[in-house]
Amino acid sequence: MLPRPHDDGRLSIGLDIGGTKISAGVADARGRVVDRVPPVPSPPDETAVLKAVSALVDTLRSRNPGIAAVGAGAAGLVRWPEGRILSAPNAACHDMPLRGLLQDSTGLPAVVDNDANAACWAEYRTGISASHMAFVTVGTGVGGGLVLADRLFRGRTGIATEIGHMIVDPHGTDRCGCGTVGCLEPLASGRALGRYGSAAAAAAPGGALAALADGAGRVTGEAVTAAARAGDPAARAQLERLGHWLGIGVATLVNLFDVELVVVGGGVAEAGDLLLDPVRASFRRYVTAAAHRDLPDIRPALLGPEAGWIGAALMALDHGEETAPAPRPGA
Ligand SMILES: [Zn+2]
Repeated sequence: MLPRPHDDGRLSIGLDIGGTKISAGVADARGRVVDRVPPVPSPPDETAVLKAVSALVDTLRSRNPGIAAVGAGAAGLVRWPEGRILSAPNAACHDMPLRGLLQDSTGLPAVVDNDANAACWAEYRTGISASHMAFVTVGTGVGGGLVLADRLFRGRTGIATEIGHMIVDPHGTDRCGCGTVGCLEPLASGRALGRYGSAAAAAAPGGALAALADGAGRVTGEAVTAAARAGDPAARAQLERLGHWLGIGVATLVNLFDVELVVVGGGVAEAGDLLLDPVRASFRRYVTAAAHRDLPDIRPALLGPEAGWIGAALMALDHGEETAPAPRPGA
């Protein structure tokens, strides 16, 4: 692993631009949180997104003199190093040259990457870490990042490691948001957990899951996790089902990249070993040559929901100097 940068006094602003909210704060070169502002709702159009982001940056700069850079992690496909958001769950950010816009509006060096890459970088730099590690985030969707030889692996244009769209069940029935049948995401996301929980509740009207259902019989992923924590066997079985699919995805990542560590983050990972034990069992079943290799640790992420903006802030300090200037907006 690379030596951790010493505390050189540099600070940067990190932003996490999600489908529903924008989070922001200030971190130092070690990833320690220096300041943060309350998240704001994601606005509906590109101009308003830029305005909201600029306002957050202005607030943080006014309270923290000497900000050296700004980094943003954005949900969706982001071209690196150009920092152009190609597509996003938030329809406001389609083909948006955010890096150039941020540099122009703030006068600061800026980087923009995918939000899961940013969270992966935060775990690598401040959490449990290894030179070759995979990060899998399990929230509403499934995403992730990959550090190989101490560098974030981005592929040719930055849109690599779409772990949620790894094909694991092409003959299944669940269609992914991307339009394909067989992706990991519709089988292993928080939304999938809710779907599994709702089906289990319908099958056992007197059970603990049915008691947590809304008027339409729907159970959320969070409710399934809560019931599993309380010991409900049906809820635990749904986490095992999720873990089965995630373990297949992790086995493929390890087969391809021989990572020494797999970190699982995102809201669903808060289920802890109730999710990770089934992931580990499925992983051992599907990884190749299990008897002839050191199996990687599969561990929960250390950082919570702030990993995205913290990672973006760190990326701005770590990667700012190694990227070409962003083309001007509209160029
Ligand atoms: Zn997909």
